[in-house]
Amino acid sequence: MRGRFAPSPTGYLHLGNVWTALLCWLQVRQAAGTLVLRIEDIDEQRSKKIFREALLEDLSWLGLQWDEGPDVGGPCRPYIQQQRYGCYEEALDQLRQQHLLYPCYCSRSRLQAVGAPHAGELSVYDGHCYHLTDSQRQAIHKVPSWRVHVPRETIVFTDGICGMQQACLSADCGDFVVRRADGMYAYQLAVSVDDGAMGITHVLRGRDLLSSTARQIWLLRLFGYVPPAYFHVPMLVDPAGNRLSKRQHGITVRQLRTQGVTAEAILSYLAWCGRLVSERRVYTLSELVDTCDLTRLGAADIVVHDDISRAIGDFLPH
Ligand code: GLU
Repeated sequence: MRGRFAPSPTGYLHLGNVWTALLCWLQVRQAAGTLVLRIEDIDEQRSKKIFREALLEDLSWLGLQWDEGPDVGGPCRPYIQQQRYGCYEEALDQLRQQHLLYPCYCSRSRLQAVGAPHAGELSVYDGHCYHLTDSQRQAIHKVPSWRVHVPRETIVFTDGICGMQQACLSADCGDFVVRRADGMYAYQLAVSVDDGAMGITHVLRGRDLLSSTARQIWLLRLFGYVPPAYFHVPMLVDPAGNRLSKRQHGITVRQLRTQGVTAEAILSYLAWCGRLVSERRVYTLSELVDTCDLTRLGAADIVVHDDISRAIGDFLPH
């Protein structure tokens, strides 16, 4: 088994990240597999070296050690996406050779106008620029983004947590961007290339990425890889139902650490909130590996307390 944790260094590690990292780590350790740490920093504007260094430091402090990664190396290096642009360029070439790639000149406002009718739904591109002729393209003086043209094919897969899934590429996903107009490679492309090239067999990540999976499976197959098994885990929410994320200033590992909260207390708290353990107490890392039952993960979001540092503090031995 080869699992991976693939954080984006756009902020300090927050509890939502820790929850996913803990589950990736548990899944791999329980199966005596290999855990890959991959830094997903293709968003050059938002990614910072300081956050990358902090991520590695915070994960090590938590004790969620990886076997391959930017600092320890490994057979699939480099493990930092900004150092893998050559692989993405090759993948784009493959798509180009298969006549699946085309330039898209649509403005953001046009995309919004034809896009998702309901909040939270995937915005399905209407294929406008696919139908442009060469002479029409030449008449447009604008740097395009690049889209991949998807077939009318239904991708069916069984998610290890959410069960059977299916999505029709043309109807549910639409032609999607693989390289943005500003030159950045898109997440769907980079993640598929990397999961394939790194021989990942198990992808465990937040449920917010479930709708990306059909596109990734399709790309992986196109590049000649066997797609991994997928496990989309519930998200952490506050009692009002809001997702904890760094954008909403979710509490960070660093903040908890300076408040004197231990790594075991943080991890045990999350394991308890997620009902992976039945006793409300501090577990050691090896006890968590022995005890946590990942088959108990269900569909519902995991509710954590409002005053997290206080709730975690309750786990500390008195
Ligand atoms: N880099 C993504 C994130 O931090 C995760 C991508 C993935 O697991 O596929 O949200």
